[in-house]
Amino acid sequence: MTKQLQIPEVIPNWIDGKQTIALGGEVFEKLSPHNGENIYEVARSRAEDIEKAVAAAKNSQSAWEDTPAVQRGNILHQICNALEQQQTEIAHIVALETGKSYKEALGETGGAIALGRFFAGEGQRLYGRTTTSGAENKYASTVRQPCGVAGLIIAANTPIANVAWKVFPALICGNGVVLKAAEDTPATAWIFAKIAHEAGLPTGILNVVQGYGIEAGAPLVEHEGVDVVSFTGSTKVGRWIAEVAGKRLAKISLELGGKNPLVVCDDADLDNAVKWVCLSAFSNAGQRCASGSRIIIFDSVYEEFKSRLVKATKALKVGPGDTDDLGPVINARQLTNMIESIERAKKNGAQILAGGSRLEDPEHKNGFYMAPTLIEGVEPHDEISTCELFGPIAILYRVKDFHEALHLANDSPYGLTASIHTRNYHRAMQFTHKVKCGVTVVNAGTYGSEPHMPFGGMRQSGNGSREPGTEALDIYSELKDIYMIVDPEQI
Ligand code: NAD
Repeated sequence: MTKQLQIPEVIPNWIDGKQTIALGGEVFEKLSPHNGENIYEVARSRAEDIEKAVAAAKNSQSAWEDTPAVQRGNILHQICNALEQQQTEIAHIVALETGKSYKEALGETGGAIALGRFFAGEGQRLYGRTTTSGAENKYASTVRQPCGVAGLIIAANTPIANVAWKVFPALICGNGVVLKAAEDTPATAWIFAKIAHEAGLPTGILNVVQGYGIEAGAPLVEHEGVDVVSFTGSTKVGRWIAEVAGKRLAKISLELGGKNPLVVCDDADLDNAVKWVCLSAFSNAGQRCASGSRIIIFDSVYEEFKSRLVKATKALKVGPGDTDDLGPVINARQLTNMIESIERAKKNGAQILAGGSRLEDPEHKNGFYMAPTLIEGVEPHDEISTCELFGPIAILYRVKDFHEALHLANDSPYGLTASIHTRNYHRAMQFTHKVKCGVTVVNAGTYGSEPHMPFGGMRQSGNGSREPGTEALDIYSELKDIYMIVDPEQI
């Protein structure tokens, strides 16, 4: 065991209430994003492990379904209490696995608990509808029922929040759950399952399978016993899931990528806009689906805004500490992708205003550290303008007025989030109504969703589903109509 944090040397699966290695006995290495060193090994699961996990979820689900939703909510509250008691330990694991600061990891863990509390409360409000009937002596109503087994697949960027985002609504609705953990953040999923188990979640209801997407994720998507597949990750994988799970008519929720615009108008508070561009583009090392990566600036303030933004970007502190502004990206593959994309853009005429490469100084060279990067001189349809890079990289575009800004904001294959900086109420209203995305913000960042609000996107950012908020209940439950016919003769 890693003594201080009590993390196993091989991060196991949780299947049917037991911690197990992969049936094939295989493992893979988890590297520290901060220094590239191996921190532990992880169970490398395959279809046979998924088979066992789905069977466990299926076997235990009907008893969980029969547990009144209010009682299910009480158990979720117990899990939240236990998460709170172990919040510092969880945050240390999140920081260890992602390379982000402990402070940021602690905040993320708090967010995950808040989300859990919201869904625990939904046990008292799993509303159906009572309505009128067109026929005499007939009464119409609806009830919510679980889908059955929920197959959940998540990304590593905000790992404890991503676990909570899917597991809590799936559980409150009465489903059995199989979570395929992100391969880059296995211990976060492991400790969540451990805490849930110790807090009294019945055996077999929450199963966690470690492993790679193609080896463990794909068999979960393909499994006939999985009734709802909920996925957070790239558009490429989301498209494949839509095809495969769609073919067998499973319910599907897809939370995918973004290339989110932040518009800076000529009447914006420029310092506030600089602050929010830095946070949107660079916090969490830009690894947010909602990160602001396309900065659209009015011509008349372009040069002034650019010089303030470049100065602020160059002043950012990069490292794993609480006083740093951003940490490393999650793995070498992602780092290489972004550097290659920047190199291709440079060949096409892109100019680098800040960063543009890996940090090679002694403090950072072994980790997966990308310098906060600003680029200008690229066209809206260039590859770098249309592909999500999922790193601390933002592109500046110059526009003449509001209409051009709105057009450019909407000229994207994605449609997840958007922000505008203006003091003009009319511009703000018009933008929030006309921009094509699922979340829009005035005078702040492109991110910042809350547990009780529906999050999701249009176009290639998703398939129209929304999680969390009460809208997540629509994903993890089925509505059933109940008609009651009364015979007046028998009264
Ligand atoms: P990814 O799609 O490569 O992987 C995400 C998860 O899917 C991982 O657990 C991975 O193991 C699994 N996976 C990969 N291939 C699979 C397959 N064939 N079948 C089943 N599972 C498979 O994404 P990533 O690069 O790890 O994560 C970053 C992406 O996630 C970005 O595109 C980001 O925008 C997106 N994201 C979206 C949201 C949202 O709410 N919209 C939130 C966070 C991240």
